[in-house]
Amino acid sequence: MKSFRKELWFNVPSRRAFINITPQVDECLRESGVMEGLVLVNAMHITASVFINDDESGLHHDYEVWLEKLAPHEPVSQYRHNGYEDNADAHLKRQVMGREVVVAITDGKLDFGTWEQIFYGEFDGGRKKRVLVKIIGE
Ligand code: ZN
Repeated sequence: MKSFRKELWFNVPSRRAFINITPQVDECLRESGVMEGLVLVNAMHITASVFINDDESGLHHDYEVWLEKLAPHEPVSQYRHNGYEDNADAHLKRQVMGREVVVAITDGKLDFGTWEQIFYGEFDGGRKKRVLVKIIGE
């Protein structure tokens, strides 16, 4: 069995953003040489997400509005977690959008459903953060 591990680094200047990381995951898959197996992609920070959905700007706007309704950033004083930090909302948003995705690898390709793409969700940007890509298979 082959095994491949790589960290993708991000430094998003804004507090929040959604980034399509499918091309980077594809590149990892090519580097791994795996034709049949699984790829795990997970955020290595508790204020960021990895999720799968459509690469459609209206939908990303809708996520932003919906997440701000669920866990508004301001006022930061509404959260007990906020003291030294001001990122309680980012922890909550991460919980809703998820930590990781797993995608099947078939014939050397990411075996997606219709319109599926992999995204990095940043909820507390302005610093360097990592995403782990782990690939196993033959
Ligand atoms: Zn925190």
